[in-house]
Parts: sequence; C-alpha cells; structure tokens
Amino acid sequence: MKTVRDIGEDALIDRLIQLVPRDRSTAAGPGDDCAVIDPGPASSSLQLLKTDALVEKIHFLSDAPARKIGWKSVARVISDFAAMGGKPEHFLITLALPPTTPVSWIEDVYRGIGECLEKFGGVVAGGETSSVPDASAVVISIAATGRVERDQVVLRSTAKPGDAILVTGCLGGSIHGKHFDFTPRVEEAAWLVAHFKPTAMMDLSDGLAKDLNRLANASACGFQIDRAAVPRTTGCDLAQALGDGEDFELLFTIEPSKIDDLLAAWPGHFPDLSIVGKMVETSQGESLAGGWEHFNSLGIQTS
Ligand SMILES: [Mg+2]
Repeated sequence: MKTVRDIGEDALIDRLIQLVPRDRSTAAGPGDDCAVIDPGPASSSLQLLKTDALVEKIHFLSDAPARKIGWKSVARVISDFAAMGGKPEHFLITLALPPTTPVSWIEDVYRGIGECLEKFGGVVAGGETSSVPDASAVVISIAATGRVERDQVVLRSTAKPGDAILVTGCLGGSIHGKHFDFTPRVEEAAWLVAHFKPTAMMDLSDGLAKDLNRLANASACGFQIDRAAVPRTTGCDLAQALGDGEDFELLFTIEPSKIDDLLAAWPGHFPDLSIVGKMVETSQGESLAGGWEHFNSLGIQTS
C-alpha cells in the first residue's frame, strides 16, 4: 500500500483536490501561496485565504522559546499573503494541546502572535482548542483571510520564458535561528507590486531548489540558475542555500527590460536583491535537487 511518504506532498495534494468540489470563484486554488477568491466584478479587491500549521518536533523543538513559536506561526501566513501582493486581515487560531501544557507556555505563544500581528497587521477573530493525548505533539494551526487589490495580485503561475529570476535577502542556515526571526516581506512585496509588478512571485518556505521548481512548473516554464549568484547566509554553502528551507524571502520573476530600473530604485533599507537566473522554455530548463520534502525528510524542517 502506498503511503504519503512514498508519493510526497505535491503529488498528495494533486490527488486529494480531485476528490472535493471546487468553486468557479476560486481564482487561484491549491498550488499557490494562498487561495484567491474573486467576490465578483463589483469588488476592486480579491480575498485571500490561507491555512498553515506548526507541529512540535517538525516546525519547532520542544524547548524552543514560546514567544518565537507564536511569532513564527502567524509570520509564515503573513509571508504567504505578502507573496501574493496582499495584506493580512482576520485570523483563526486552533490549538491542539496535551493536558499537561503549562498555561504560561501557551500564553507566551499568544504574546508572540500578538507582537507579530501588531507589527504587520491582522487581528484574531476566533479559534478552537482541543486536547490531544498526553505526550502527543502540540499543534498550532492558523487560518487567516487577507486582501489584495485586483490589479496587484501576483500568482506563481504567470512567469514567462525570458523573465529574470530574483530573490530577496540571503538564503540558508535557517536552523541557526532565522526560522524564528525572519521578517515577512510585506513592505518589500507591496513596493514591488506598486512599482515593478513581478510576473510571478512566491515566498521561499521549502528552499530555493524546491520552490523554484514549483514556480516553474506552475508557469509551464523551465529555468536556468546562476549558482554563483545565489545569495548565501554567512557560513552557508550552496547546498544549504538551495535546500535548508524556511528562508521566507521573496522569489519573483520580472521582465528583463525592467531590471536596471528596479535595481536602481530598490530602497536602501530593504534586504539585498539578487538576480539568480532566468526563466526559459521547459525544454531548455535545468533541474535543481534539494529542498524540504514533507513526509520524507528527517529532523525538524530547518535541518
Ligand atoms: Mg508560500
């Protein structure tokens, strides 16, 4: 009998979505950073929907600081809204906790959630709590709505051959603390869509190797990567930069004619911006190995 480990996350999602009804108003469904719901032509904006879970021993170690776990739980979701060109609105938080969980621990998780929402926007509108058997992993599940102006939404499926591929910041080494201390690129993404709207965009959660493959596949393109141009966190080698995951930087594509103006205008207080390759026809593309594979990788996600 095949297991979810045998087929992996992406193939699992492809199979599961065949089994449920889908809606014409879903402008972008499973496969992008968020679901995009079109309320109809009278609305100048589109609704974004996102759900995400943090699982003890998968996304955080049991002795990790509770505030940082809380921050990370919502910052991941906000990063996905940013990757669509949008902003967060309402959050629902589901907690599955063993009965022995200290109250002060989960309060600190909520303090971290509060700090992140105050900084980047969004409010808690409700939630759900459940117990899990003693010694089970804590699960913090976040569902959220967001919004993006109709003319500012950026999908990951709309890159074209010839587009340049760029990333913000430095990649790799998330296990050394960055996975708890990243900045969702809300401001950078909003600036980009206002001034140099990317042809496609996503955030880097599972490593450039895996996520660039996803963007290229969604766009029915290939890519060529300049390995020497991949920006590495100090102390990281190329394999770590491509595969560690949880960078939460922006990966985007843009018409080559806009590159010089973009680089000249990129605000100085933003993170570094690097051109790492170009989109090509599928037949001319290369492949990149590495990246986080749910159900098959060992250790926590940042390993
Ligand atoms: Mg994402």
